[in-house]
Amino acid sequence: MTGLQTIIGIHDTTLGPAVGGLRFYEYVDERAALKDVLRLSRGMTYKAAIAGLDVGGGKAVIIKKKGVELTEALLRKYGSFVERLAGHYVTAADYNTNVDHMVHIAKSTRHVISLPTELGGSGDPSGNTAYGVYISMKAAAKKTWGTDSLTGKKIGIEGVGKVGYFLTQLLSQEKAALYITDLCPDRLREVSRNYKVEVVLPGSLHSLPLDIYAPCALGASLNAETIPSLNCAIVVGAANNQLAHQERDGALLLKQGVVYVPDFLVNAGGLINAVTELEEGPFNKNLVRQRTDKLYNICLHVLDEAAKTARSTQEIAQGLAVERIQSMKNALLR
Ligand code: NAD
Repeated sequence: MTGLQTIIGIHDTTLGPAVGGLRFYEYVDERAALKDVLRLSRGMTYKAAIAGLDVGGGKAVIIKKKGVELTEALLRKYGSFVERLAGHYVTAADYNTNVDHMVHIAKSTRHVISLPTELGGSGDPSGNTAYGVYISMKAAAKKTWGTDSLTGKKIGIEGVGKVGYFLTQLLSQEKAALYITDLCPDRLREVSRNYKVEVVLPGSLHSLPLDIYAPCALGASLNAETIPSLNCAIVVGAANNQLAHQERDGALLLKQGVVYVPDFLVNAGGLINAVTELEEGPFNKNLVRQRTDKLYNICLHVLDEAAKTARSTQEIAQGLAVERIQSMKNALLR
């Protein structure tokens, strides 16, 4: 008995097999885990659809019990559960899981991606997620200032973990003026040692006078309290579920004239990286880059549509994702 308690959510497979990461998390109860997996799998459907990928949305959780670690036995058992779904769900790394965990899962299923690069996999996606954030920032800059150069722009990065670190690197190369914050002093020390940045106190970055604010920590950083104190032209960041309340906060940002590019579009570089592992042959980094570069025009399209219709970018982007899925569904029915 491994005591594995897991839920796999398959939200939509119209465009292809449902793909999504595996979370290992201590939930209050099973209901909370179910709610999380359903919400996250729906988000994956939108992300894949808007990024033009031929996969659907899924997500999985292994419910963490107090004091229990993610062992090889647990991961192999989880893998055999994934295998039973016969490829309708493909699992990947997510919160509290990594490429090494995927190696154990691969011992009992073929339907696993984000394996280590040494084994021919796509590895950690954070570098490409950051690249997608950078490309999305450029698109938002083009729409806002008529040029996509970020040189000299004041950019605040909230959370300099894996994605935030790579983003700092890309923006430093372009000579942006960088402000960073993090709850972890070690992260701040490491980034400051390697790049020219100004460190600010956690909780204060969003209200600084900035050109671009980049939430790259946890979700819900854009809410009824923080949005009125934003002092930036653009919000583009990697964090999932940045809007505490999707409709209300999307509308608040619109009302305030802040250009917001929806998170599920901005951070699609991670999924693009992982999904490219499903292609035949050796892992193709060039294809990852080409697919991620397409985010630029998709962002511009969302921003143009939002400007034309005076609807929030969140609403527009979700609408485009649903439209793509629906058009495939209609074609399948014909
Ligand atoms: P990470 O855990 O490596 O980094 C997050 C950082 O944020 C940590 O250094 C943490 O100390 C810091 N942090 C947490 N709360 C904070 C706060 N209130 N203020 C300031 N800093 C805070 O995570 P990551 O992989 O870099 O991912 C960042 C975000 O992007 C997450 O929301 C993640 O879900 C999302 N995301 C990541 C990827 C990826 O490829 N890693 C892909 C898609 C989306």
